Amino acid sequence: MAKKGAREIVGLVCSVCKSQNYVTTRNKVNMENVKLEVMKFCNKCHKKTSHKETAKLK
Ligand SMILES: [Zn+2]
Repeated sequence: MAKKGAREIVGLVCSVCKSQNYVTTRNKVNMENVKLEVMKFCNKCHKKTSHKETAKLK
């Protein structure tokens, strides 16, 4: 049985155009108070932008 509740699915939204481009999982046990922020390519902006995690999945 897989451990329950250790990882949760979060969306990654572009900080420029606010579109949700990626979905990832995060380990909230190890990173309880850390907000994810990663540089990823945004299809709407056509460039690499900062993407931040959001709990809301569209
Ligand atoms: Zn964008």
